[in-house]
Amino acid sequence: MQKITTPRVTFWGAAHTVTGSMHLVEAAGLRVLLDCGSFQGKRFESYERNSRFPFAPRDIDAVVVSHAHIDHIGNLPTLVNHGFQGPIYCTPATRDLMAVMLADSAKIQEEDAHFLNKRRRLGEPKVQPLYERGHVMRTLKLVESVPYHRTFKIAHRIAASFLDAGHLLGSAIVHLTVPGTTREQTITFTGDLGRKGLPILRDPEPVPAADLLISECTYGGRTHPEVGMLADELADVIHRTFARGGRVIVPAFSLGRTQTVIWFLHQLIEAKKIGTVPVVVDSPLAMAATEVFRLHPECFDEETSKLLENAPDLFGQSLVRYTRSVEESKRLNDMKTPCVLIAASGMCESGRIVHHLKYNIGDPKNTVLIIGFQAPETLGRRIVERRPEVRIHDHMVPLKAEVVIMNGFSSHADRGDFEMFLGPLAGRVRKVRLVHGEADQAAALEAMLRAKGFADVAYPNRGDVVELD
Ligand SMILES: [Zn+2]
Repeated sequence: MQKITTPRVTFWGAAHTVTGSMHLVEAAGLRVLLDCGSFQGKRFESYERNSRFPFAPRDIDAVVVSHAHIDHIGNLPTLVNHGFQGPIYCTPATRDLMAVMLADSAKIQEEDAHFLNKRRRLGEPKVQPLYERGHVMRTLKLVESVPYHRTFKIAHRIAASFLDAGHLLGSAIVHLTVPGTTREQTITFTGDLGRKGLPILRDPEPVPAADLLISECTYGGRTHPEVGMLADELADVIHRTFARGGRVIVPAFSLGRTQTVIWFLHQLIEAKKIGTVPVVVDSPLAMAATEVFRLHPECFDEETSKLLENAPDLFGQSLVRYTRSVEESKRLNDMKTPCVLIAASGMCESGRIVHHLKYNIGDPKNTVLIIGFQAPETLGRRIVERRPEVRIHDHMVPLKAEVVIMNGFSSHADRGDFEMFLGPLAGRVRKVRLVHGEADQAAALEAMLRAKGFADVAYPNRGDVVELD
């Protein structure tokens, strides 16, 4: 018979930071990982962190994945490469998005290893990619997808289920019931928590009470502009730019944000608030991800479901042109007519967006529309700061285009959302641990939760342990 030990959770990623989500649950003789995301930071540091696990991957019995953003799934193939043999549990939409995201990530790993090897000093060993396409294939074979609200058992000992987190297609709040020494213990992991009223997705479901709540806190202290204001703001930007004969350039993360922008453009055209504008999405990854959205209407909110009945091609080719090849992408720069051009990547550091910015930001007719967080030291941040000129591909380019910043597209809960989603749990949660957020945001959420009556709230360091008994 299995000896019952005190259940414990160790925070191995997204501790005091927003990347590399990974928490180890040890209970009933099992070791289960919640998420296995990529740590993203400086290139060498990221490689080091992602290539070394603080445990033996072959000792992990299962992984439960909250959603398909790369900081939650990106290191799964490394885990497999180092001996993990599965299973990996997630929702069906997460599984499909994961296939697209990890294939793209493997390509980036191969390019990164190539870059590091070029700078290798004499005598230093060759850097291997963290993983390659083959590891992604092996990872996908281990996936067992489970719909929302269906309880499943991990090795007959730990019960688990997914609830809609409203953050990304297929995103889930994970709820676990584990055997304890005196009684069963429950753990709720929010994954990334969405917002009320976001288009396409349903609102987050009520967060289940638990002995331990592991909550994200990305924007625990911030208030986002209301979703309802975004459409009109977007229409204004397009009118203004097109009246000048210019183009609207939108750097966007391929997964989530791009589909939200397409949804808004469709709404504006339907409501005749803007004319039928040419929309080009220049990102093969965004195109592949959008295809997955089309496959999962079971994840849509009521409004989008209705919209799809009347406009089945909402995410298709009738409104939006997708470019695949690099040649096609480059030809866009010769096309001088007004358009909305959405391209990866989000922080303007790499990907096709870089050459579109290079060709377009020098023209005052154009607009750069920033819809996501731009980290310090990135090209995106320098554009947000409206520097008179910015360095792109070793050239200084004057920044004459209009720069518009719209923060309302975020798919993370803000302070008000947290108050609404977590507030009702006061007195029904014994311990709260805040992850996936910078210190100032965590402190703001901690203060709010304490004021609401949560007694035990902490912001763990990497490697900290919480025990449940
Ligand atoms: Zn996310």
